[in-house]
Amino acid sequence: MPETRLKIKVFGDPVLRKKAKPVKRITAKHREILSLMAQSMYEGSGIGLAAPQVGISEQLIVADTGEGLYKLINPRIVKAQGSQVNQEGCLSVPGICVKVKRAKKIKLEAQDEFGLPCNIEAEGLLACVFQHEIDHLKGKLIVDYATLLDKIKIVKALRELKKKAKHEDLP
Ligand code: ZN
Repeated sequence: MPETRLKIKVFGDPVLRKKAKPVKRITAKHREILSLMAQSMYEGSGIGLAAPQVGISEQLIVADTGEGLYKLINPRIVKAQGSQVNQEGCLSVPGICVKVKRAKKIKLEAQDEFGLPCNIEAEGLLACVFQHEIDHLKGKLIVDYATLLDKIKIVKALRELKKKAKHEDLP
């Protein structure tokens, strides 16, 4: 594999707020992106990563909570049940944790990296990660779940991240 590295986009980068496009035709390029995304996820000690986080506005996600690697294309939640609340972090919002309420159990429909349809049932942490990554595909971030009190606490840190993101965009 060539020495390609994907750079993780940080809060303030507009790509994180864009709606990711569905993938119409799955190609080798998508398989390569998914592999590189998995690599970046493991390197960042993350348990999930969505393509917008590496600057690609397409519906691709990877996740691994310790039970194996998922590489999914065009994932969507078709059923959600119960609720859970977890402190979540995000590789694109480093240093910040926000309490997020999500469904406890979900059913997903997606395609695998070869375009085959897959139905996945997940609960607990894995369900949480899938919901987090699918949020990314909609341009949604954990900070959007912050309560007013959370926001007061994290606003300075977010401003710093935004400043950093801007500087990185300079030629
Ligand atoms: Zn995230």
